[in-house]
Amino acid sequence: MGHLRADFDGDVAIVTGAASGIGRAILAALCRAGARVHGLDVAAPGPEATEDDFRTAPVHHAVDLCDAEAVERVIAEIARAESRIDLLVNNAGIARDRALWKLADEEWQAVLDVNLTGAFRVLRAVASHMRASGRGRIVQVASINGLRGKFGQAAYSASKAGLIGLTRTAARELGPRGITVNAVAPGMIETAMTRTLPAEIRERARDESALGRLGRPEDVAACVLFLLSEAAAHVTGTVLVVDGGQTT
Ligand code: NAD
Repeated sequence: MGHLRADFDGDVAIVTGAASGIGRAILAALCRAGARVHGLDVAAPGPEATEDDFRTAPVHHAVDLCDAEAVERVIAEIARAESRIDLLVNNAGIARDRALWKLADEEWQAVLDVNLTGAFRVLRAVASHMRASGRGRIVQVASINGLRGKFGQAAYSASKAGLIGLTRTAARELGPRGITVNAVAPGMIETAMTRTLPAEIRERARDESALGRLGRPEDVAACVLFLLSEAAAHVTGTVLVVDGGQTT
């Protein structure tokens, strides 16, 4: 399982979709590394919201990324309370898997609203604070299916391909102010999102991988921490594939 030891002492971080799965692992890794972490999620965090080895206590904000005003409000509140925002991880996401000829407008829209428009809203609100301070690290959680086609994932893969486009343009627009913007593209990871998939789809992903196992949320969190760290100071506009070789 991947781990990265990095020091984020005193850095203020925002993680979306932090209540479960990959977002929860990113929040936990940042709390262990000393960052002051604000988790944004429409769902409440589980009973394991804090752990013994956390150096900081995360703050949960109940917010739906589809509510534009609520997003503006919560980012402004965090910036006021902390006086700065150093790190952003745009991780929240949903899937509505269905062959495209059966996909309803509402399903298409729901996926685009959370995965792409939601991420854009948070990024836009955070960017003005990072621009003012001349520093910032942003990571967006895309997917290997934003880089390739996947049966049943027309909306999902379009949203993740869009997120990658947003990442690259944001890297160009924010780079001159000392802000890096990167994406990770996980393969299949064991979370609530994939646990309910039919066994044969999970097995196919395992067989596709070079390492012979599905990824764990901690594998993705370690790569996100690398991109947030000073070790990645000269890395921007890139997509780091975290798929155990699923697409190699
Ligand atoms: P998950 O379902 O465990 O977690 C997603 C979180 O996002 C949940 O806590 C959920 O409440 C939150 N969320 C959903 N809609 C929201 C909204 N409107 N506003 C605020 N929060 C909202 O899923 P996960 O597997 O941990 O996925 C996290 C990210 O990783 C997603 O963007 C997903 O697309 C991406 N990803 C996952 C996999 C995988 O195999 N699990 C692979 C590639 C990419």
